[in-house]
Amino acid sequence: MGALEEGHFDVELENEVKLGCTELGFEAEPETIDIEDAVKVLLRGLGEDVNREGLRKTPLRVAKALREGTRGYRQKVNEIVQGALFPEAGLDSGVGHAGGVGGLVIVRDLDLFSYCESCLLPFQVKCHVGYVPSGQRVVGLSKLSRVADVFGKRLQDPQRLANEICSALHHAIKPAGVAVILQCFHINFPNMGSVFLESNRQGWVTVQVCSGSGVFENECAEIWGDFLSLLKYRGIDMEKDHRRDSHDQCWCPSQSSSGEKPSSDNGPANPAMVTAVASILRSLGEDPLRKELLATPCRFVKWLVNFQNSNLEMKQNGFAGGRMDLRTPHGEVTRYKKQIHSELNLSFWSQCEHHLLPFHGVVHIGYLSTEGFNPIAKSRLQSIVHFYGFKLQVQERLTRQIAESVSSLLGGDVMVVVEANHTCMISRGIEKFGSSTATIAEMGLFSTDPAARAIFLQSIPNTSTPVGR
Ligand SMILES: [Zn+2]
Ligand SMILES: [Zn+2]
Repeated sequence: MGALEEGHFDVELENEVKLGCTELGFEAEPETIDIEDAVKVLLRGLGEDVNREGLRKTPLRVAKALREGTRGYRQKVNEIVQGALFPEAGLDSGVGHAGGVGGLVIVRDLDLFSYCESCLLPFQVKCHVGYVPSGQRVVGLSKLSRVADVFGKRLQDPQRLANEICSALHHAIKPAGVAVILQCFHINFPNMGSVFLESNRQGWVTVQVCSGSGVFENECAEIWGDFLSLLKYRGIDMEKDHRRDSHDQCWCPSQSSSGEKPSSDNGPANPAMVTAVASILRSLGEDPLRKELLATPCRFVKWLVNFQNSNLEMKQNGFAGGRMDLRTPHGEVTRYKKQIHSELNLSFWSQCEHHLLPFHGVVHIGYLSTEGFNPIAKSRLQSIVHFYGFKLQVQERLTRQIAESVSSLLGGDVMVVVEANHTCMISRGIEKFGSSTATIAEMGLFSTDPAARAIFLQSIPNTSTPVGR
């Protein structure tokens, strides 16, 4: 991380507010109320009724999640570490063994989440920390994770997060050196220009960063080799590390070409919404005029308007069509042999209406059609999935709406499975990394015939890899 900026760091710690908000009265605090008001502006900007059942508590939920997710601004590292430094005789005194003073200590796979300062969406972090004790002093291992979390719970950029964790531990523990490696995972942005045609932008934008102090200051130091050997099976590839200079712009997909270009559909960002997001930043204790945050409100609004409430009829989206009825005019099922078709891994993005956070993943659709009958085109099903995805949603409703829509095209026998990662599951304090949610809707034959369900379910590949593995 280069030279430790001790002076700067101390000032930063001193400037922090002493106490976090107390649980009691949290809802009545002016910061919370300001964020709630701003969220209402955003919801109205999306064409939503803020009094709609599912949305009534959303402003408060968002305010709580954001303030909780940035509580690091109100925490002090020294208070966390002070009580947890233990004397431990070690190699320095000729007594003891590696692991005591003098030996490298590593904590791997700490799960953190943070908020991207470029776009205000949460991102996930796998954090690996190592330090070499000195002065016959070791720190309680749980404190490494606590300190990492203090800096994670802020608006961040991966490299700065690594530097701040490293620097804070160095100053608090005063070891011979600290090493930090972060693997960060950011939700990808749909490219609205082409998402209805082709959508292979599933998955995550990932970046790996490191920071070192003291004996780790030199990136070529041998001690890095020890550290990395102990991380070997964790997908750490140092070849890709260190060398961010070439693409040192920003990892956030909101800044990639497609995200930055004002989409012709969306037009310029709604100024009231942009102002609302800037006021949220202020309520969190940030300075919206900080260089890195200047364009953040605009980017967040651009992300949000992907999920604008749209009253467009399905027709106007180009996938209305004659009902392809497989039944005879008399209503009896045809005698033709029917086959189960599966269309798997249709990608979707959506925005949880309870927390105003993304959930995304894949949709699998099974349906019956007569042999010889042309199965419905994949692109058409993908359009239906996007149509219902790009809204404020809940996963159960999304699943049902897709099933009903496909069923109206195909005449009844439809089964839909939605597999999703919910950002809100991660960032609301539950912090269950790698967990995913599946929902199922069955119609017609699929709701009555377990064998049909089984055939379809078995066709779903077990390929969904949770983030951070
Ligand atoms: Zn971002
Ligand atoms: Zn949610």
